[in-house]
Amino acid sequence: MRFDDNAGLDTSEVQDLRGSGDGGGGVGGRVALGGGGLGLVGLVIYFLMSQFGGVSTGPDTASGFGLGDLGSGQQVDAGTLAQKCHTGADANRDHDCAIVAVVNSVQDYWSQELARSGQTYRPATTRFFTGGVRTGCGSATSDTGPFYCPADAHVYIDLSFFDELKSRFGAEGGLFTEAYVLAHEYGHHVQNLLGTSQRGTGTGPTSGSVRLELQADCYAGVWANHATTTPTESGEPLVQDVTQDDISRALDTASRIGDDYIQTRLGGGQADSSSFTHGTSAQREKWFTTGFQSGQPARCNTFSTSSLG
Ligand SMILES: [Zn+2]
Repeated sequence: MRFDDNAGLDTSEVQDLRGSGDGGGGVGGRVALGGGGLGLVGLVIYFLMSQFGGVSTGPDTASGFGLGDLGSGQQVDAGTLAQKCHTGADANRDHDCAIVAVVNSVQDYWSQELARSGQTYRPATTRFFTGGVRTGCGSATSDTGPFYCPADAHVYIDLSFFDELKSRFGAEGGLFTEAYVLAHEYGHHVQNLLGTSQRGTGTGPTSGSVRLELQADCYAGVWANHATTTPTESGEPLVQDVTQDDISRALDTASRIGDDYIQTRLGGGQADSSSFTHGTSAQREKWFTTGFQSGQPARCNTFSTSSLG
């Protein structure tokens, strides 16, 4: 995937919290969150946050604080991304800027798609963090993997997850893998806007949770279909090309984050479909492909189909 060198980037869609709470006893770092063992004293909320791979041992707990509040000790670094990420050329050479570009492209697509059907897209900010973070859905650590929090409508990601995808999951990786992950999380945001999120309950092979996750994979594929034809505000597409290699990397990733793969290959056990929350690897590949080949959100009908794959 390459970006148009001259296309502008909108860094307001990404907030950088990575400088917050690392060391020095600050709040927000892993230590302050309880050494990774979530379970802070206080108001404990079971929260519905939509993880990417279902890789944590969750459910996670939360200490309550105002929705949309950053939480004490967390600060947005408003300067660095804005200083270094101006154009597609910056995205082509800088990883942070590439993530900004992907977020821009995904949100441009959904904004235009929802407008076509008379609906309004509300932008969601992606927040970079390291170690741990407080969210409108509670506190989380990097172990949770990337997730979308419906309560505050932000996507949260520790970019080290992408290294873990390669080292732990054996994925090929690459920028388009990362684009798939982000587009999946924005799929959850679209579900939140459309009122679908609350249907994502339960566990098991045909549960609402699995249907919600497979639909997010499908939505990611839909964006991939439109990535090179979605104009930014300046009128030109930001994404210049999506190659077959890109798509195969997304599918390779999908094949390594299915519930069955994680339980058998990473967990070392047998697949227990009654605990599935995200679908099998084959299903995740199928639904990404459905979205990519059709380019139509309506084809992501995971809640009405009798054949999830
Ligand atoms: Zn998800």
